[in-house]
Amino acid sequence: MSRTHPHTERKNPWTRWQDQRRQAGAWGSARLPLWIALIALVLSVLVTLVWLAGRYEASQVQSELERDTADAIHGLRTSLSRDVQSLQGILSSQPSTDVWQPQVLGLLGQRREWLRVEWRDTQMLLKVAIDSPLRAPVFDRTPRSETIGEVLQSCQRAKRSNSPAYSGSYYLPQYDGLGMEVMELCLPMTHGGALQGYTLVTYSLQELLTERLLATYGRRNEISFTEADGTRLAMVGSQRRGQRLFKAQQLLDLPGTTMVLRMDGRRGAPDLFPNLLTALVTAMSIALISVVAMLIKDSRRRLKAEQELADALAFRKAMEDSLVTGLRARDLHGHITYVNPAFCEMVGFNARELMGRSAPMPYWPPEMVGEYQQRQAIRLAGNAPPREGYESVFMRKDGTRFPVLIIEAPLISTMGQQTGWMSAILDISEQRRVEEMSRASQDRLQATARLATVGEMASLLSHELNQPLAAIASYANGSLNLLREPAPDTLGDVQMALRRIADQAGRAGRVINSVHDFVRRRDQARESVPAQALLDAIGPLVNLQARKLHVQVHMRVDPRLPQALCDRTMVEQILLNLARNGMQAMDHPDCKDRVLVIHVKRAASNAQQSWLEFVVADQGSGIDPSVADQLFTPFFTTKAEGMGLGLSLCRTVVEQHGGHMGFEANSPCGTLFRFTLPATSLGHTLGSHTA
Ligand code: ADP
Repeated sequence: MSRTHPHTERKNPWTRWQDQRRQAGAWGSARLPLWIALIALVLSVLVTLVWLAGRYEASQVQSELERDTADAIHGLRTSLSRDVQSLQGILSSQPSTDVWQPQVLGLLGQRREWLRVEWRDTQMLLKVAIDSPLRAPVFDRTPRSETIGEVLQSCQRAKRSNSPAYSGSYYLPQYDGLGMEVMELCLPMTHGGALQGYTLVTYSLQELLTERLLATYGRRNEISFTEADGTRLAMVGSQRRGQRLFKAQQLLDLPGTTMVLRMDGRRGAPDLFPNLLTALVTAMSIALISVVAMLIKDSRRRLKAEQELADALAFRKAMEDSLVTGLRARDLHGHITYVNPAFCEMVGFNARELMGRSAPMPYWPPEMVGEYQQRQAIRLAGNAPPREGYESVFMRKDGTRFPVLIIEAPLISTMGQQTGWMSAILDISEQRRVEEMSRASQDRLQATARLATVGEMASLLSHELNQPLAAIASYANGSLNLLREPAPDTLGDVQMALRRIADQAGRAGRVINSVHDFVRRRDQARESVPAQALLDAIGPLVNLQARKLHVQVHMRVDPRLPQALCDRTMVEQILLNLARNGMQAMDHPDCKDRVLVIHVKRAASNAQQSWLEFVVADQGSGIDPSVADQLFTPFFTTKAEGMGLGLSLCRTVVEQHGGHMGFEANSPCGTLFRFTLPATSLGHTLGSHTA
């Protein structure tokens, strides 16, 4: 067997596709951690960025504070040395105490941080002392002698270096219960290289900060002098409540002492977007997160669409593979662009052998190639095939031919353009075989039915032939008696008797002939027969039974009818069956009007075909509605000796002729069977018979 099984070809793309789906599934489940990692990464980058931006800002603040502190130190130094210069300016002119006093008082009036200025001689004995005019004298509570120790050290240092020197700070209690940290400046007074004395200035550290730094730096910071261990000596400036404390400190290195200047800056809790950078980073982060979110959403949608597509594809594939109808698509040039597995199986070629092929196709029987090519040319020229399809013959790879039904339609793309032809192909060999079998069994059934009728007729015949035979016998006996004693008119009587005998013999012969005609199977070819001829043919047989059952038979044929186009024998049998059924239905003691009407008339016709209608009406028992449905079912009968084949055969024969058969109740009683038969064209009407 050279037919390859297309399953092997079919499996490959299928398995490939399955693998792809499996991979897609695995990839889909592996994608979740990837997404989580991506989101975590993006989030951590964003958090880091925001944190870095915050830190950067904090460092900005810190360095600003450091800068401020350095500037403050510089400013302090400058102003302190300016103080020294002012004093030296006064001293340079070697003033007397009288001159010195007003000049120093002038300076004191301008400087709140100066508490007191003293002029002491080389022995540190006080010559003149002037307290600040701007406040109460500070040395009232604590005698000056108690604090002079601090000063001595700095003056010795000043004397040694011949330059101003500062003392360490010390606490000076006051009457109001408070006190203040103060610091002394000792400025040596020299004349011609010889020490003349000292000018001492007492500085209030608090006021020093207030006067020199508060205005510039105090608004945003707390400024203080501290000792090395952090103890605060003096402090100015507002301290805003804020979350974050920034601290900067620097040494104020003065000759003789060192202090720490410290600035505490509390910056308000940073705003949500404290500066442009953070705002920018945050905005970008939000944008990034939105983009990621959109990407996720998009990829979700994509995944879903992919899944749906895959499902649809799987469904289509399954449908295609399980289809028993062969499918074949051709492009506009007649090349095969698609075949389904069912088609491959039908013709025995695999898809690879068929794809792209054009006329002559490998499944065309060689002897038909010419005809098929012509048919394809007609199709490709754009002529639509019949909607109900057409029959053709294909050839399998092994050379066997088989009949197919092809239903073709134009292949229209989604754009609405025709891209080729799509065909559905049905292998109808099985159908043909069944049809053949059913036809054969029909024939057998008909033959059986005919034989059954013959059996019935045999009994009728014996009944019917009895009469003529008895008549013949009595005529013959009478003639013999006449001839035994001849009289003058004997010859005439014998002649008459012989004529009667001949008549009766002829009648008997006709009876036998009608049965013989009926039983003999004739050619089934259709012929055109006048309706009257059909009735004439069944007349003797019908009358035979009518007489037995005491039925009157009326046969009527409408004038100028066309001839019936039919299988004569079969139609005669239909009429005979219906007539016999009708008469049997009237064989009942209650039935008074035993009339059977057989009427042939013209039926509704159309332009292509005219039709004749045959009506067989009886006045019998009628048909019970409960059995009406089964009447045409083979072997349905209500009669003890019936076979139940008559009506079923009648209808089959009528339908074979293209007509239809039905029945209805007759008025006032009985049943009316009617059936139609095709008539010859109207030209044949001439010569038709009248009743
Ligand atoms: P059979 O005559 O062998 O019974 P048919 O197929 O001819 O088989 O008829 C089937 C049944 O239909 C009959 O048994 C009878 O009951 C019913 N039938 C047929 N024709 C008539 C009729 N004209 N009036 C009443 N009943 C009928």
